[in-house]
Amino acid sequence: MKIKTKEDYIESLKKQHVVIYYNGEEVKDRTTFPAFVPHINSAAKTYELALMPEHEDLLTATSNITGKKISRFTHIHQSVDDLIKKVQMLRLIAHETASCFQRCVGFDALNALYMTTYEIDEKYGTKYFSRFSEYLKKIQDENFMLVGGMTDPKGDRSKRPSQQADPDLFTHVVEKRKDGVVIRGAKAHQTGAVNSHEIMIMPTQAMVEGDEAYAIVAAIPLDAKGITLIFGRQTNEERKLECGIDAGNCEFGVVGGEALVVLEDVFVPWERVFMCGEIDFTGLLVERFATLHRQNYGGCKGGVSDIIIGASALAAQYQGTLNASHIKDKLVEMMHLAETVYSGSVACSAMGSKTKSGAYYPDPLLANCTKHNITRNIYEISRLAHDIGGGIMATLPFDKDLRSPKIGKYVEKYMKGIEGVSTENRMKVLRLLENMTGGTALIESMHGAGSPQSQRVMYQRLGKLSEKMKMAKKIAKIKE
Ligand code: SF4
Ligand code: FE
Repeated sequence: MKIKTKEDYIESLKKQHVVIYYNGEEVKDRTTFPAFVPHINSAAKTYELALMPEHEDLLTATSNITGKKISRFTHIHQSVDDLIKKVQMLRLIAHETASCFQRCVGFDALNALYMTTYEIDEKYGTKYFSRFSEYLKKIQDENFMLVGGMTDPKGDRSKRPSQQADPDLFTHVVEKRKDGVVIRGAKAHQTGAVNSHEIMIMPTQAMVEGDEAYAIVAAIPLDAKGITLIFGRQTNEERKLECGIDAGNCEFGVVGGEALVVLEDVFVPWERVFMCGEIDFTGLLVERFATLHRQNYGGCKGGVSDIIIGASALAAQYQGTLNASHIKDKLVEMMHLAETVYSGSVACSAMGSKTKSGAYYPDPLLANCTKHNITRNIYEISRLAHDIGGGIMATLPFDKDLRSPKIGKYVEKYMKGIEGVSTENRMKVLRLLENMTGGTALIESMHGAGSPQSQRVMYQRLGKLSEKMKMAKKIAKIKE
């Protein structure tokens, strides 16, 4: 692994000049830009923890292609144990960051492609799998962070890619050359894009006849000519720039940092193309990538929930309500909800199976169920946090008010909770809760890894309703 430490990671980002816009201006150095630093710190944890002997087992693995020690974030799952370790690793990192550490998206893209390129070759005699394996070796060796570029802007959702008034609303191949392809389009809300090394472009949905140009998978360095990143605005964005108490979690942020990635006629050599026109494999690839990412959510959001629960208990303690029976009951309910989502991630991993490529894959129905629970449980956990924390979370004075030579004494006096706990500490924990349980953080739990409706579609497909009807008939002794 060439990139080992946090410093190596930051240095590698500094060396690669990526065109990034923030609030209408180009960012010259992405590694020192205050709005990006929390996301960099969070992703850096995936490197830092891997170097700690006590976390080595979860954060590293042995490459099935080279036999070398690699980051688990570049590993292809070789067993059910690997699938479970992935979930444990995510909860652990969430405990360290209380945020999204972004690197799982590229990790899931690598695994989905490993399985799928193998099967494309089997059907069509293509050479995608060996090409992809070569690419994977390089990623493992460099220890790069990848963006999993799946979601297209999609324009008019009632129309197919090839029916859109503007063909670029879905990413597509505009030219096939002897040496490679030229790609145009965009990928929307790409987690971790501003602090990654490469993007893996994948189709956003199952494609049908006529959509061949949209069935494209390609790995592209983010500094390739024609790529522009436009960072998405977040709730409480300015607080990140101030980096005081009001930011809640200034070091790691509360979400991943998403960007719109524009691809304006980007050239990709053939050795970096892993699907080109095989429409019949697009649905399978999307389903696999989605399943692998939905598997994660009980791990990372379970870990984030643990911080919300801890902060809620602290807020209660600091205002003297921790021993009230209704508060204890609410905290118990929050724990129940968090462990429920974690159980889902462990379950879909434990029920995983081997694909033809040899890579292991979580149970898709259970993985979708896990993510679907996230879209509800995190809201409920956040609702309970608001209930416990109280209205003060919404009306607390500024950090600067507390520090003001003139009015600081009033904030100090009237925002105080129990004796022995400083007003500053009370404000810190309330601000952490406020930032973690609202705005962008909640929306990410709803739509990250796919909107709830996309999980319900999977229930319809995989839920075996007719078998359930048959079982009911048998028990009711119905003969038709
Ligand atoms: Fe990883 Fe969770 Fe962030 Fe997705 S939301 S990239 S699974 S930390
Ligand atoms: Fe996410």
